[in-house]
Amino acid sequence: IPASAGLDSSAPALPGWTHVYSGKVRDLYIPEEAADAASAEQLLMVASDRISAYDWVLDSEIPDKGKVLTGLSLWWFDQLSEVIGNHVISSDVPEAVAGRGLIVKNLSMLPVECVARGYLTGSGMADYKATGSVCGVPLPAGLVEADRLEPAIFTPATKAELGDHDENVSFEQVSETIGAEAAEKVRDLTIEIYQRAEAIARERGIILADTKFEFGTLPDGTLVLGDEVLTPDSSRFWDAEGYEAGKAQASFDKQFVRDWLTTESGWDKSSDTAPPALPAEVVEKTRARYVEAFEKLTGQKFPG
Ligand code: ATP
Ligand code: MG
Repeated sequence: IPASAGLDSSAPALPGWTHVYSGKVRDLYIPEEAADAASAEQLLMVASDRISAYDWVLDSEIPDKGKVLTGLSLWWFDQLSEVIGNHVISSDVPEAVAGRGLIVKNLSMLPVECVARGYLTGSGMADYKATGSVCGVPLPAGLVEADRLEPAIFTPATKAELGDHDENVSFEQVSETIGAEAAEKVRDLTIEIYQRAEAIARERGIILADTKFEFGTLPDGTLVLGDEVLTPDSSRFWDAEGYEAGKAQASFDKQFVRDWLTTESGWDKSSDTAPPALPAEVVEKTRARYVEAFEKLTGQKFPG
């Protein structure tokens, strides 16, 4: 659990649990009887319907988004269980957060965002254009937007305080922060998990361009996956059908939000004023995209 105070969110009061932290999307609780966050063995992690874009938490919520994120994470944890353990204890949570909440092991989180990139875009592309490398990993010359990277590369970032941007760092910087042995371990795991997930998504018509994992350790030192995994919020999913290197790919989830904010809303993204609330149509289309991602990946009907 981050030491900083986090967002002043609308996290609901839940019987038996004390609210201790809110990030942009998730609310964390500890058992009522736990003395403090550090000594709690378990946490209740609730994915809200909040949505962020351009580092702003928007005023509008996307109905069912929290359920999609939690349902997808659970499905992926299951797919990955032969490769790596995870923090999930149970999904038996208070009624008010049913489907959105998980009881998890309180991990000691590594202070690194473990990113794998199999395609070049976003901050990876910006880094490549400036330096020819991404996070110190040299790449061949002449790559274009959305080109595939084979093999996928490990491009870690620091975990920023709320309101700050995550910052790409080199493998050496990660080694200095968490030690060479742990750094090598999370690097290898990040790539292995990415490759497995990329193959699964591909079979289902979705390109997993990049994704971010957060690892933590159990009291006995075992490394496991925490947070959310392979959701539209932690990953870039592209439609395999429309994929073409050399141009920007439509993102699966937030495209309507970003498009509306930057073209139709009149909001200036470089200003420091908060973006306006989303029109109902943008909310509904965005909800449909989140649900579609869930259904395409899992092959299951979204339980609503
Ligand atoms: P951002 O909005 O940039 O994602 P954030 O990561 O702080 O900020 P959330 O993802 O909304 O916010 O909140 C989840 C928080 O819980 C993260 O700080 C994450 O590292 C932490 N976390 C996730 N799983 C565990 C766990 N099992 N034990 C302890 N902390 C965890
Ligand atoms: Mg997060």
